[in-house]
Amino acid sequence: MSGENLDHVATEVSVCTLCPLWKSRKNAVTGEGNPKAKIMLIGEAPGFSEDVQGRPFVGAAGKFLETLLSENDLSKGDVFICNIVKCRPPGNRGPKPLEVETCTPYLERQIQIIRPEFVVTLGSCSTAYVFARAGLPFAGITAVHGKARQAVLHDVEITIFPTFHPAAALYSAKYKEQITVDFKVLKKKLEGARF
Ligand code: URA
Ligand code: SF4
Repeated sequence: MSGENLDHVATEVSVCTLCPLWKSRKNAVTGEGNPKAKIMLIGEAPGFSEDVQGRPFVGAAGKFLETLLSENDLSKGDVFICNIVKCRPPGNRGPKPLEVETCTPYLERQIQIIRPEFVVTLGSCSTAYVFARAGLPFAGITAVHGKARQAVLHDVEITIFPTFHPAAALYSAKYKEQITVDFKVLKKKLEGARF
């Protein structure tokens, strides 16, 4: 894939009709951030605001995610943020297995271009996908969150760091507390990673 870059992926995603989600989208949301990011954050799917703006994590969950990043000395410019599926499922339902299967070759290309050192999976959809593709057993987000694991994902050696979805923190004080603690653990891991 010589000459492959993120703009090619974004151009293809913007006009993609490979799965039925294109029919109800306003805008596909390919993802954004630093193309040389050491840290990639992967959510589930665009929500209402993301679909309107064509940008990831710009709604209420995104605001909280930005707080988590800045509290831990990271900014959106240090990371690349994207989702498992690039178009909003109607009514914010979870993506269906066929939609995940059809869309994730784009994510695979993004990972192979960026070659991040850390992949932070936000919520169980993203964590289940990444664990499966890395050949790790997934026992549910509650069992695996907040712990780093070494793995090879799409031929890239990474540290996977799963946590809850920031949207979960908007309706549960318990999840808010847990995701906040997880990001502090992540910060320590990043400090130990010498980049
Ligand atoms: N939730 C997600 O999983 N992704 C977004 O981009 C916004 C909300
Ligand atoms: Fe294409 Fe992915 Fe959008 Fe489906 S969700 S139409 S595969 S970009």
